[in-house]
Amino acid sequence: MTMTTILIVEDEKPLVKILKYNMEKEGWRAVSCDDGEKGLDAFKRERPDLVILDLMLPKLDGFEFCRRVRSQSKTPILMLTARKEEVDSILGLELGADDYVTKPFSVRELTARIKAILRRTGAGEASAAGLRAGGIELDAERYETRIKGKSVALSTKEFELLKCLLEAGGRALTREQLLEKVWGYEKGLELDTRTVDQHVKRLREKLGSEANRVLTVKNVGYRLKED
Ligand code: CA
Repeated sequence: MTMTTILIVEDEKPLVKILKYNMEKEGWRAVSCDDGEKGLDAFKRERPDLVILDLMLPKLDGFEFCRRVRSQSKTPILMLTARKEEVDSILGLELGADDYVTKPFSVRELTARIKAILRRTGAGEASAAGLRAGGIELDAERYETRIKGKSVALSTKEFELLKCLLEAGGRALTREQLLEKVWGYEKGLELDTRTVDQHVKRLREKLGSEANRVLTVKNVGYRLKED
């Protein structure tokens, strides 16, 4: 079983320290970032089970962070707000935050809220299920792929390949990385990087109108165009 990862995006250092300490005490892995941009990068990289998000952040604020995450993921977000007035904004804008607490809050209350959310979403599954880019939707739990709402049948390898590309969140993956991730233990047989190319070709054919989302990165490998 993988460890539950909590991403903390908050610029108040003393608060981050307290949060991290308490998350780790619960047996969760805590990753923190002190501005919204770094937070987004960490989100893509770490694929957290839950995000604790401060609203007022340097570079990219919590509202924008939430909007961007929600456009591609259902990962639960718990908002931290400094003022009661902000609560109206959170609710009014329908940002898709799962819950919020108003500062100052007790860590115990926060932890209880997190546990409730994780119970609801099923920790560890939340980030793996529901991946999306443009018209491509992938449900890792149900092993289902939809293109613009229509279900398409992919082979296991094509599915895994697409999943890796979606999980990389727009970053390029080398052919070697894909070979390792998708074929893994089978490596060393007659497989080489051309296997990846052949599968990408077939995957593109099945993606139909979304085929051009799978981009070839010259001399490197592939990446997915997110929007
Ligand atoms: Ca702040």
